[in-house]
Amino acid sequence: MPELPEAETIVRDLRARIPGGTVTRVSVARPDVLHTGLTAAALGRRLRGRTVTGVSRRGKNVVIEFDAGLRLIINLGMTGRVVTSDASRAGELRHIAVSLHLRDGRAILYDDARRFGDLDLRDEAGWSARDAELGVEPLSDAFTADLLHSLSRMSTSPIRNWLLDQKRIAGVGNIYAIEALFRAGIRPTRRARTLRRRETIALRDELRNVLRESINSRGTTISDYRDASGEPGAFVRSLRVYDRQGEPCIECGTLIKRVVLSNRSAFYCPSCQK
Ligand SMILES: [Zn+2]
Repeated sequence: MPELPEAETIVRDLRARIPGGTVTRVSVARPDVLHTGLTAAALGRRLRGRTVTGVSRRGKNVVIEFDAGLRLIINLGMTGRVVTSDASRAGELRHIAVSLHLRDGRAILYDDARRFGDLDLRDEAGWSARDAELGVEPLSDAFTADLLHSLSRMSTSPIRNWLLDQKRIAGVGNIYAIEALFRAGIRPTRRARTLRRRETIALRDELRNVLRESINSRGTTISDYRDASGEPGAFVRSLRVYDRQGEPCIECGTLIKRVVLSNRSAFYCPSCQK
């Protein structure tokens, strides 16, 4: 499932390619990826003639900004891809759900095999409301160890589950939560409020480290994620515990364990993580 580094990689790619492009036509092959209440007709009518002014990210969402304050908010779900039609691997897309055709002859393609993704169009006020629902950006200066410590005091949830709540920290999903907990020496099953101060400091630092390293490797591709050129990310080779149950811990040799929390796998080293 694409998380912050994957969305960030797509955003950086798109930022170099699409600003200045003007939408001439929108085609929607799969209306079920549109946000509840947004119709294909309304998407086309509101975007036609609009020019891309920027591309940004909020949490796991790719946000394409247009003039007049319109924003197309793309949540990639599990298998969503945003690829420009001039990319060398665009021809490999098999599940194009929405195409934004540009005046220069190119198109911005949203492809989604399983269609758990979500495309929403918001004006300034609508965007503010959506933005306010999301928690702190983990790579921003606002994400301090003090903030993480105070937020976590209220919860008895396992820390892995706690980290996945987008209303607290925006953009962290299972892969990066698991990897950061390993690096910080914290077991995924620990109750959030039992973390000591030095542990929240380590967790804050390791979350940022793992997210930044993954961005530098252009994200993690387990199966479906692709960047805006259609290429996979390389960070999967740097994962230390995720999906490695039964393999020796790279730090101590103890076999990595898998546990299921809220129907999702967590992985940890029983020796390194307390
Ligand atoms: Zn270990």
